[in-house]
Amino acid sequence: MGALEVQEGFTELYGAEPEGVWAAPGRVNLIGEHTDYNDGFVMPFALPHVTTAAVARRDDGVLRLHSADVPGGPVELRIDDLAPQSDRNWTAYPAGVVWALREAGHEVTGADVHLTSTVPTGAGLSSSAALEVVVALALNDLYGPDLKGWQLARLCQRAENVYVGAPTGIMDQTASACCASGHALFLDTRDLSQRQVPFDLAAEGLRLLVVDTRVQHAHSDGEYGRRRTGCEKGAALLGVDALRDIPYDGLDAALAELAGEEEVTRLVRHVVTENERAERVVSLLEAGDIRSIGPILTEGHASLRDDFRVSCPELDLVVDTALASGALGARMTGGGFGGSAIVLTESSGVPALTKAIEQSFTDAGHRTPRVFEAVPSAGARRSA
Ligand code: ADP
Ligand code: MG
Repeated sequence: MGALEVQEGFTELYGAEPEGVWAAPGRVNLIGEHTDYNDGFVMPFALPHVTTAAVARRDDGVLRLHSADVPGGPVELRIDDLAPQSDRNWTAYPAGVVWALREAGHEVTGADVHLTSTVPTGAGLSSSAALEVVVALALNDLYGPDLKGWQLARLCQRAENVYVGAPTGIMDQTASACCASGHALFLDTRDLSQRQVPFDLAAEGLRLLVVDTRVQHAHSDGEYGRRRTGCEKGAALLGVDALRDIPYDGLDAALAELAGEEEVTRLVRHVVTENERAERVVSLLEAGDIRSIGPILTEGHASLRDDFRVSCPELDLVVDTALASGALGARMTGGGFGGSAIVLTESSGVPALTKAIEQSFTDAGHRTPRVFEAVPSAGARRSA
């Protein structure tokens, strides 16, 4: 959907022109999974899929929110009434951003917002971050606090953690706010230092497929919390601030210290090896060798499946089928228990891989997955 349609939708709803149109993308994470709450490394890139917002300021303390993806008219809220975890609906994400901006001392006196989106929701592609970041960027431009991308990301994370009440790391919001076209973003979640790493798949004759399994297993929130707690326990037992502080060459010694703690041992092993994989991937990409990252992606999947235990039959099926059908590498991406997997392949392999994955889902009695190509795209921006 182009900026013009969103602008027209706004005018139809609110009877006036918006002051501007902004867009923020969903993301996939190339490597570095379940590391962002362990102060570790992540490497997301932005999708061409975006959430678009047409926005105008108001001066009467009213916030009106409308999404083309949700039936019904605009939802009207008073910004003075916004309170953490008071809203169980989708409006908590954008309202949380307004709340977080005001909490941080930035003036917002109201807004009319109309949203459309091409980011699949609940597919592990971060539609929630796209929604938060697009609203934060629009209000930042209109109200002028002049925050940088990483500051907007922090603010959006606060909206999601505190206002919505969903415990997420900083990766999704930073990816949506800061990614650059043709690049992956190497992010150190400890200090938020970041590096744009060249990731031009097409130039190398490669493609990266995203396979949205279209399942989300119901227990995923509880399991996420359990992994976080387990990682915190590991760090405490090992006497470090975060698992990031265990170097790869100190892994064996750390695991020896954890003797008897079976679950914590597995979690620690995943986080430490995943950080090392992320560092290997960034070195290869900076050396211009995209092909060689394939096996590292696949190693990452095995670690998430066997050690961190956040995969599921549908994600494993995508990975196994892709590898058996000639992919260079494949892994689940995002939190797990459903959502999406990524597959790295030669361009020529796309049709056969897509067919094989779809066929495997039919044979297993699963819903047909959504398969699409992910071109590393731009981060959040003003589009009109
Ligand atoms: P993900 O971020 O992986 O897509 P989440 O569960 O974190 O999944 O966020 C999905 C939720 O975000 C949706 O259930 C909805 O409440 C909200 N959301 C995302 N995009 C939109 C949109 N365009 N319109 C309305 N709500 C949205
Ligand atoms: Mg989300």
